[in-house]
Amino acid sequence: MKIVSISYWRLKDRYYRLVGLRCQDCSTEYFPPVYKCRKCGSLKLNDTEMPKSGKVLTYTILQETMKGFEDQEPLLLGIVRLTNGVKILAQIVDTPVDHVHIGDRVKAVFRRVKADGESGMIYYGYKFVKA
Ligand SMILES: [Zn+2]
Repeated sequence: MKIVSISYWRLKDRYYRLVGLRCQDCSTEYFPPVYKCRKCGSLKLNDTEMPKSGKVLTYTILQETMKGFEDQEPLLLGIVRLTNGVKILAQIVDTPVDHVHIGDRVKAVFRRVKADGESGMIYYGYKFVKA
């Protein structure tokens, strides 16, 4: 549990603002960040905020989830293609799971991800809703 919390706090700005990387040589963008550009091999990568909208590429519905997410079942986990082409794994919320379809336009919102019952900490992060 401690390790999860440390990495969460270290990465929280990245997840709050959807900060990825942009290759300075070929302009390819990444989220989550990579160490070197997979397209051209450049190491010159700068932080860049991802666009906040995209389309549902595919999704899966989880009837059972991990501990701490039971109150969100059934949970819809999608792959969203952002307007810059980056594919991002994200929860899609605020819509009954059978009303989400491939190709739907979605936008990023910031929500409670889970509450840790032991520490009382509440984790926030990005999710997507239908646009
Ligand atoms: Zn590149």
